Amino acid sequence: MIRTAAALLALFALAPAASAQETPEWSLAIHGGAGTLLRENMTPEQEAEYRAAMQAALDAGAKVLAEGGSAMDAVEAAIVRLEDDPKFNAGRGAVFTWEGTNEMDASVMDGSNRAAGAVAGVGTVRHPIRLARAVMDDGRHVFLSGDGAEQFAGEKGLEIVPPEWFATEHRRRQLEEMKAKNLSALDVEFKFGTVGAVARDRQGHLAAGTSTGGMTGKRWGRIGDSPVIGAGTYADDRACAVSATGWGEFFIRAGVAHAICDRMLLAGEGVQQAADTVMADVAQMGGDGGVIAVSKDGEAVFSFNTPGMYRARANSSGMSEVAIFAED
Ligand code: ASP
Repeated sequence: MIRTAAALLALFALAPAASAQETPEWSLAIHGGAGTLLRENMTPEQEAEYRAAMQAALDAGAKVLAEGGSAMDAVEAAIVRLEDDPKFNAGRGAVFTWEGTNEMDASVMDGSNRAAGAVAGVGTVRHPIRLARAVMDDGRHVFLSGDGAEQFAGEKGLEIVPPEWFATEHRRRQLEEMKAKNLSALDVEFKFGTVGAVARDRQGHLAAGTSTGGMTGKRWGRIGDSPVIGAGTYADDRACAVSATGWGEFFIRAGVAHAICDRMLLAGEGVQQAADTVMADVAQMGGDGGVIAVSKDGEAVFSFNTPGMYRARANSSGMSEVAIFAED
């Protein structure tokens, strides 16, 4: 009898430990944009290149988290890799404006104190995500733009490169094709190539970051959702961290990243349900794209309404996966 009671007690004692294991110590998700990604339009070599690039960025962020680093450092490490990779529409490889320049936007948010930093329309800072981080760390402002943001980058000692650093042939061709055929940015190959990352670290803190060249052929100083806190990026330790990619005008109007966290916080929804509900709302409005999100419990999810999204996730329980097409 006593032995049975002792065994039962031992079982109960084990129960919390067993369920605690379901929450990974750390968790990370990244994206490299969403759009018309169809297997039949991609050669096996191209697919392998994208998968390798996503894996490398995932590994860079996972390394930081596995070594006990912060969610914010992991987000930055993953995004810096993607900004340097010309395949993605961020940093090197950014899309062209109508005038033939590259103007980049980026933002970060720290879920532990909801500090945030964002920049728009920068053309000489090698890693716009680092500039967004510097704005946040400086703390006086949240959102800087254009020449002022570049001046701030210089004062903070960030790496400055000539504008040609960002220009790539395939992006120039996309602009030329758009102009020649009178297309909209949405008809251009792959559509959205923005990059982003969300993470939960061992301390239970969340962070999010997003970096982009915007949309091909953008004019008049157009700014999308990526640097807008609450639209393209949001993090709150009480709920989740989100990074978006897609038709920015709709993501701004729906306040996508904030809306997802809000549904979790106020309506008690799980992270997948909250993300799916908000993305359905975006679709209803006529927008498309996708999000990555990680919950305060380390659950990393994707939600998108395009045929594909470059995406990957990893956690301390040994998960490490890369996916491109919807059916992956
Ligand atoms: N959301 C970005 C923008 O509207 C584009 C993208 O996701 O690629 O600027």
